[in-house]
Amino acid sequence: MSAPIRYTVVPERPEAHLYRVACTVAEPDPSGQELALPAWIPGSHLIRDFARHVVSIRAESRGRPVALEKTDKHTWRAEAAAGPLTVTCEVYAKDLSVRGAYLDPRQGFFNGAGLFLRAKGLEDATCELEIRRPQGARYRDWIVATAMDRAGAKPRGFGTYRAANYDELIDHPVAMGTLSLAGFRACGVLHEIAIAGRHRADMARLARDLKRLCEQHIRFFGEPAPMKRYVFLVTALGEGYGGLEHRASTALLCSRDDLPVAGETQPGERYRTFLGLASHEYFHTWNVKRIKPAAFTPYDLDREGYTSLLWAFEGMTSYYDDLALVRCGLIGRKDYLELLGRSITSYLRAPGRAKQTLAEASFDAWIKYYRPDENSPNATVSYYGKGSLVALCLDLLIRQKTRGKKSLDDLMRVLWTRHGLTGTGVEEDGVERLAEEVTGLKLQGIFDAWLRSMRELPLESLLAAHGVEMALRPAESSSDRGGKPAASKASGGLAMLGAHVRGDGDASVLTHALDGGAARAAGLAAGDAIVAVDGLRPGRGGLDAVLARRRAGDTVRLHAFRRDELLEFDVRLKAAPADTCVLSELSGAKARSLERWLGTSRG
Ligand SMILES: [Zn+2]
Repeated sequence: MSAPIRYTVVPERPEAHLYRVACTVAEPDPSGQELALPAWIPGSHLIRDFARHVVSIRAESRGRPVALEKTDKHTWRAEAAAGPLTVTCEVYAKDLSVRGAYLDPRQGFFNGAGLFLRAKGLEDATCELEIRRPQGARYRDWIVATAMDRAGAKPRGFGTYRAANYDELIDHPVAMGTLSLAGFRACGVLHEIAIAGRHRADMARLARDLKRLCEQHIRFFGEPAPMKRYVFLVTALGEGYGGLEHRASTALLCSRDDLPVAGETQPGERYRTFLGLASHEYFHTWNVKRIKPAAFTPYDLDREGYTSLLWAFEGMTSYYDDLALVRCGLIGRKDYLELLGRSITSYLRAPGRAKQTLAEASFDAWIKYYRPDENSPNATVSYYGKGSLVALCLDLLIRQKTRGKKSLDDLMRVLWTRHGLTGTGVEEDGVERLAEEVTGLKLQGIFDAWLRSMRELPLESLLAAHGVEMALRPAESSSDRGGKPAASKASGGLAMLGAHVRGDGDASVLTHALDGGAARAAGLAAGDAIVAVDGLRPGRGGLDAVLARRRAGDTVRLHAFRRDELLEFDVRLKAAPADTCVLSELSGAKARSLERWLGTSRG
């Protein structure tokens, strides 16, 4: 058993966004200790090279400087030292996303992946972490929120914490500042909510609703819950959205308007979004933090890890995030079908679903999903979006073929007992093999079609078999995301440009020109800034308002700047295709299977 690795984090110069981080190795490698920062953070498949934020680094042993040699972009080798080795870095922290590290005089947040050097060869050693309070009177009220075990620190206090090994050390993000707190117990487990940033959230309501949600998830997989304690670390901003899962906590970024306010009784659309995000990350406590792909067991933090299974880890989690909300009664069935209708709409509107399979989307997450560009909608499919619809289809198919005796829930529970509880990674074909074993169905052809081909999913027939009618209609406006019936009875079709557009001053800039769309056919490209339609600058309503007065088949003359060149395009507008999904409950015979699917029953 090696001696613990000791880390110290000092929020030394908040105004300059600098942490000082020290790492002390009591028994360094006698031939020269290697230390490295991760290239990526688990849960987010992009090479981030956290070492680029290291502003300075030095090493010492028994008061004497020790030479450090950099051996690759994120690895240092200290010259041989007989005694304890301490390496100290200054780390720049101004990434307010859930994946990075941030510090200013108002708040601090960090993921260990960005701050803590990994002493190579000593990854299994216990880690002790001392978190120091920034110097100065203004930081007197700061507290600390993290799911890491305390080892001397008072509850929510600065001081010493402990992790069993490096993998655990970097899986407990830490927030500090004047945080708003609330707590609750779910199935006996203490849960805390800590919010940084300005907000006026109804904390009691938040605690009540999250308790209901957490109990739903814990009971779904079966008590006891796998964590002793759980923390929701929330950062509220003007606008923002994001989440990252951890073994006993999650970091969430949300708009302050997504949080519930006092007096509100029914969850509005924005609060529903927040609950969906919290539900998603909480479900990951089981599915991906403990049921893991073999490719991530353990994580190789030096380079990309490849798996075609993200459809199962992100897609199934995306399926259960909203499903759990309806099953525990936080939203109604109508709300749920609206959310599902929107997911189907966004899937149907991406031409890339005919170019990339789900398995490919997962494997290439590092270079495609996490590095989107103007051509992404034409070339890629989302393993979250399509993955959740494959999970839906799989669930409904299993229910139908087994006459309601089995469901995707059973598969999730067996994944939990076989892999989550044992720590055995899921092989690339593991989910498919287990699905056949659990249900007794032959599913290979289904998986080939849904995961490894671009064939359409049988959404309509499977939904109909469970009492839900799926209807498709044309979009009514560019902000029509589906899920709801048409607002107006008038048909005739919206005239579409076939592009995504954002306003930029007086211009409308094409962000994406879609395959098969009118804009692309006329020669417009992403980046073009449209300044006039038929010789006139669009008024207050922008391009949308102008196009709303045109009919499909009309030709409009657009003037647009491409870089500094003014170009002219004659665009023949197309009718909006029927790609906007609306789901509604069918009355009668299928009511019971709908009840079993959306209800809370376990079988
Ligand atoms: Zn996720």
